[in-house]
Amino acid sequence: MSFDALYPIFLVGASGVGKTSLIIKYVDDVFNLDLKSNVGIDYITKDVSVEEEEIRLQIWDTAGQEKFQISISSFSIYKNAKAFIIVFDLTNEDSLQEVYNYLLEINNSYKSDILIVLVGNKCDLENQFENLEEKIKEISNEKEFKLFKTSAKEKINVNELFYYIAKTLKEKF
Ligand code: GDP
Ligand code: MG
Repeated sequence: MSFDALYPIFLVGASGVGKTSLIIKYVDDVFNLDLKSNVGIDYITKDVSVEEEEIRLQIWDTAGQEKFQISISSFSIYKNAKAFIIVFDLTNEDSLQEVYNYLLEINNSYKSDILIVLVGNKCDLENQFENLEEKIKEISNEKEFKLFKTSAKEKINVNELFYYIAKTLKEKF
């Protein structure tokens, strides 16, 4: 199938927050609770129709490097990135610290406009930490980022997240 635009987008964030689960849910509509932690980095493509244009999202999953704190700037594949989805776990406050680290890293590595979306995943779970909005304000240094609360498990806001990215990138580039 042909497409009008191709956008590489990257999911980053602490290990275990649900990056791979979100991608699988979006692309395949399955949720595997025993998902093995993937190694390396790979992508999958998905076509989205936005206002009569076919947008191809090239969705890159990242894993492994989150454990080694390898900087974004050292990965040449990141150079083409049009958007970063920074994922954290709504039940794990430590994963929000990783969001801060990624924001710094992306800020240092990209001079051009890049779309950054924050995703709090696992909204289906009860034990979510408190004062999310204030904590996000603290780490985002005055900048406003679009925030989605998602569940890969229950498929909440998953399509909405990727549609928002496709639509915003279409308008931007
Ligand atoms: P990654 O390391 O960021 O790729 O995280 P994974 O996708 O491997 O998910 C880590 C664990 O969290 C797995 O056991 C998933 O089944 C679980 N998980 C992922 N998303 C959700 C969610 O939305 N809700 C719940 N309850 N569990 C999730
Ligand atoms: Mg993974």
